[in-house]
Amino acid sequence: MKIGVIGFQGAVNEHITATERAMRELGLSGEAIWLKDDAQLSEVDGLIIPGGESTTIGRLISNAGIFEKIQEMGKSGVPILGTCAGLILLAKEGGEEIKETKQPLLKLMDMKVIRNAFGRQKESFETDLEVPAFGEKPFPGIFIRAPAIEEVWGNVRTLAKSKGKIVAAEQENLLAMAFHPELTSDTRTHQYYLEKVERNTS
Ligand code: GLN
Repeated sequence: MKIGVIGFQGAVNEHITATERAMRELGLSGEAIWLKDDAQLSEVDGLIIPGGESTTIGRLISNAGIFEKIQEMGKSGVPILGTCAGLILLAKEGGEEIKETKQPLLKLMDMKVIRNAFGRQKESFETDLEVPAFGEKPFPGIFIRAPAIEEVWGNVRTLAKSKGKIVAAEQENLLAMAFHPELTSDTRTHQYYLEKVERNTS
């Protein structure tokens, strides 16, 4: 299988490494690639949108002319993992700040997101998260100027909460994390995501 990590800005290499490690752990053959153009989109079985700055990533995806195609892929069932800024881009709705800046969203997941939801004093923190879908062992959550999901509807399933806010969710082929699983050695997020890809391609 081939996974494309949208590679304009953010933690791209870390996602490539974590994805390939998770493939090995699951016994899957495949690779993760640094994705920048339209031609590569046709080659991949899944997409990862990394953390970074959601306004910048959104703008660069539009400039590269692949915004609509990513949207279509998400709608047609191609698995997409969005982390941090990537989570913001997956959302159908944004809070005031997103509305005011007219930031383009892919509008794929039935959720409303807030940027920088954990306030300025606590811009970055690490915490053990309960993620029942990953088993009993807590997941190391690394939050960096993280967003949060304010509201979900439709068939979105909440996967984890922190400080009373939803920080991980899934909806069919889509998986969104407010934290940075690619910065830990715990590959359960990437494994969970690759299982979606495997189901979609087999
Ligand atoms: N605060 C960033 C944004 O709003 C997200 C931060 C991150 O991806 N680490 O886009």
